[in-house]
Amino acid sequence: MSSLLFDTHSHYTDSKFDDPATLLKQLFETDICGAMCCGWDVKSSRDCVELASSFPDLYCSAGIHPENCVDIEDMNSALDEIKALCKKDKVKALGEIGLDYYWEIPKKKQMEYFDAQLGLAEELDLPVIIHDREAHGDVFDMIRSHKKVRGVMHGYSGSAESARQYSNMGFYISFPGTITFKNAAKLPEVAMVVPVDRIVVETDCPYLTPVPFRGQLNHSGYIKYTAAKVAELLNMDYNDFCRIEVENSKKLFNID
Ligand SMILES: [Zn+2]
Repeated sequence: MSSLLFDTHSHYTDSKFDDPATLLKQLFETDICGAMCCGWDVKSSRDCVELASSFPDLYCSAGIHPENCVDIEDMNSALDEIKALCKKDKVKALGEIGLDYYWEIPKKKQMEYFDAQLGLAEELDLPVIIHDREAHGDVFDMIRSHKKVRGVMHGYSGSAESARQYSNMGFYISFPGTITFKNAAKLPEVAMVVPVDRIVVETDCPYLTPVPFRGQLNHSGYIKYTAAKVAELLNMDYNDFCRIEVENSKKLFNID
C-alpha cells in the first residue's frame, strides 16, 4: 500500500484533535494527496477556512449540519455568513448539510435549513456534502426538488438501489471506515452496484475509525484500510483504485 488517497470527508477542526496542523503535515507526506475539511456550523466553517489556508492540498466546506441548526437564533444571518464563506478560494463545497432522524431534532427546522442550503448551492454552483442519517426517503425527495444540485452522499448508509439512483443523478457515493466492519450491512453490495467513476472514500475523522483501529481516534492515515476494502470488493488493483479515487474526488470538488 503506497498510493496516496483523497480523504473526501474529515473534521480536523474538531476539538478532539490537539494539534491538527502537525498531524496534517505528516499525513500529506505519507497517506493523502488531498483532503476535504468539513464545517458543521458557522464557527467550524470559519475554522476550516483558516486551517486550509496553511495547506495547499487541504480544501474545505462551509455549511450547517442538521444537528447544529437548533442552536441558531437567526437563520438568515447564519446563512449569509455561510454564503460569504462559500466565496473564499479554498471552499470547494457546501456542507455538511442534510437530515438526521437518529437524534431528536425538530424535523421542520432541519428541513428548512436543508432546503435553504440546497438552494444556496444551486445559486453558487457549488457541490454539496450530504449527511443522511436514518432519513433516506426525505433526503432523496428534498434533493430531487433541487434539480441542479450535485455532490456527494457522505458516509453512505442507504440501499444499493438508492446508491444507483444517486449515481445516475450525478452524485458520488463516499464510503466510510464502517465498510471494514464485519456487520457492514449493505455497504459491500452498494460498492458493487455503483460505477467506479462515482466512488470516493472518507474517514469522517475523528469518528468512524476502520478496522483494525476501531475505537481509536480516526485520521486520514487510516483511510487506506477503507480504500483497500473497496478495491477488494471491486476486484481491483489497490493502486489503480487509489488513482481513480483521487481523480473522482478532484472532479467532485472541481479541483484542478
Ligand atoms: Zn462529518
